Amino acid sequence: MTHHDPSPAPLTSVHHLRHPLIDHHLALLRDRATEPPEFRLLVQRLAMLLAYEATQDLSLLPIEVHTPMTYTTGHVLRERVGLVPILRAGLGMVDPLLQLIPTAEVWHLGVYRDESTAQPVEYYSKIPETGPVDVGLVLDPMLATGGSINSAIAALKSWNVPRIKVLSIIASQPGVEAVQSRHPDVQIFACAIDPELDARKYIVPGLGDAGDRIFNTRRG
Ligand code: URA
Repeated sequence: MTHHDPSPAPLTSVHHLRHPLIDHHLALLRDRATEPPEFRLLVQRLAMLLAYEATQDLSLLPIEVHTPMTYTTGHVLRERVGLVPILRAGLGMVDPLLQLIPTAEVWHLGVYRDESTAQPVEYYSKIPETGPVDVGLVLDPMLATGGSINSAIAALKSWNVPRIKVLSIIASQPGVEAVQSRHPDVQIFACAIDPELDARKYIVPGLGDAGDRIFNTRRG
């Protein structure tokens, strides 16, 4: 038996995580009074919980393990996992994911929104053209319009990554719909799905600018 047993239930494309620990850490994360050092820790905790949920279908390889008492069979990850943090806020989710998946590869992706066209523009990508990972995890704490995330998914699809998942701490309902309609095969994992975006495309109620709060660059 080389796969995780029993077989996981088929996954639907949107997974809104419900758990008391998620609610607790999310409430503190949203609070405008939470300063960057604590904000970073909260992002890390929530990213770990998202990772736990999003990786339940990774397949395993049996190995023989020699314990101090006897031999037994253990199971280790067999698939190549690629983490794709969207710069800059996605960087805050990389370390917790690497804690859980130390063998993961990290492929950074920079995407910004051109304010004149409202279209996402890729400004940094080292994603290669051959040898795709088995599973690609797109990391962005905020799934707002879905523009950057759709562009990251397109980059992973052109790399022929067979399984793609999005891990966001807060998603907006319009953003979820934008990703689902363009990429119905991609799974979205979120700790919250907020109802709307404001005129500047910030998620409401949201938490403000995640990048500024992680990197302590908030002005005013
Ligand atoms: N990016 C953020 O950091 N916050 C939002 O609300 C939307 C996009």
